[in-house]
Amino acid sequence: MNYRVFSFQSSILHSMTKRIAIFGSTGSIGTQALDVIAANPTLFSVEVLTAHTNGDLLIEQAKKFNPNIVVISDDKQYQKVKDALSSTHIKVFGGEESLNEVAAMDVYDLMLAAIVGYAGLKPTLSAIENGKVICLANKETLVVAGDIVMQKAFEKNVPVIPVDSEHSAIFQCLIGEGRNKIEKIVLTASGGPFLGRKPNYLVNVKRDHALQHPNWTMGAKISIDSATLMNKGLEMIEAKWLFNLQPDQIQVVIHPQSIIHSMVMFDDGSIKAQMGLPDMKLPIQYALAFPQRIPNQFPRYDFRKPNTLTFEEPDVKTFRNLTLATEALFKGGNLPCVLNAANEIAVYAFLRNRIGFLDMTEMVEQTMQKIPFIASPTLDEYLQTDAEARSFAASLIQM
Ligand code: NAD
Ligand code: MG
Repeated sequence: MNYRVFSFQSSILHSMTKRIAIFGSTGSIGTQALDVIAANPTLFSVEVLTAHTNGDLLIEQAKKFNPNIVVISDDKQYQKVKDALSSTHIKVFGGEESLNEVAAMDVYDLMLAAIVGYAGLKPTLSAIENGKVICLANKETLVVAGDIVMQKAFEKNVPVIPVDSEHSAIFQCLIGEGRNKIEKIVLTASGGPFLGRKPNYLVNVKRDHALQHPNWTMGAKISIDSATLMNKGLEMIEAKWLFNLQPDQIQVVIHPQSIIHSMVMFDDGSIKAQMGLPDMKLPIQYALAFPQRIPNQFPRYDFRKPNTLTFEEPDVKTFRNLTLATEALFKGGNLPCVLNAANEIAVYAFLRNRIGFLDMTEMVEQTMQKIPFIASPTLDEYLQTDAEARSFAASLIQM
């Protein structure tokens, strides 16, 4: 079976009203998910909302959606959120540990994992451990510890439904394909704001320019990852775990228009593509409502309008993050975890104007060379690897 989720008889997937927990509700994915839910109040109820530092938005969301529980993981914001919701029945939790505890609670059926970065790993594992359906936006979870996450999901009979647009596309292409063999998948990449640029240009690129993505409006971290092509590297590793693929079955192609969201080539050479205008609400609503599709009024792609869809090979000599991620994909073990940790440190340093655009790749490469390789890490070894890689990468900034 290419993808186990199609064989799930999970009653939750077919329940009338799904009880939703949005981990990372104040982010780009989280807020768009709340728009989808607001438009479909009979299909979904909001039971849990979590935010890291944006207490004000969390309060506003809580007042509007009346969840059972909210978590503010930044302790400093706890009292403010607690006071603001004191006249309601909403329970307020504070601190990072609360994320794992609430993820385990029997107050919801489906988690939208929309925290950014490594911070999403533990709450997602806690949800899987407790049998929750996972709609996964947080790709870093699979990059860091994909084998452990997917194995746990298998043991607990938990569906992991992709939200990332490329993976949602592949997921949709695989429906009805049962045991048919995949020859390869083609992940499309827009190329980001610096498509066609060379290192002599990139060396001077500044934060605000790098944050301007041509086709998508997203959180800061993924916007930078898209500009460096690390996002596509992370997505290769995400795809490997989601769809149980060999590294050499995963290909990346630049498609600047972002109309084809990704493709699957089967072993007869036939190719299926999933298409549409670039709008994250579509894969979000697809994942939340799966296996149903829900009608909406989003703008439609019109083939009659003059338009050209183009494809080209990525320039991996300029965007070396893709080469580094490919190395991590093929070598496996704790190397993707190292890559991810170093990249998180690098991106946040770039966002604070501490390092240059090309320094990000340098930092990831040096950290990958430094941290000892472990072929089959335990969860503790992944956590340890993440900590070591972060502290080594951070030490490079001070120099
Ligand atoms: P974002 O920065 O806009 O939002 C992140 C959310 O996570 C916020 O609610 C924030 O409060 C929370 N958060 C941040 N750090 C945290 C921490 N340490 N502990 C707990 N919570 C924390 O990010 P986003 O763009 O919405 O992306 C979320 C995830 O979805 C990422 O993994 C990203 O790669 C993935 N994704 C995003 C898009 C997109 O269009 N934005 C598309 C595909 C995949
Ligand atoms: Mg994507």
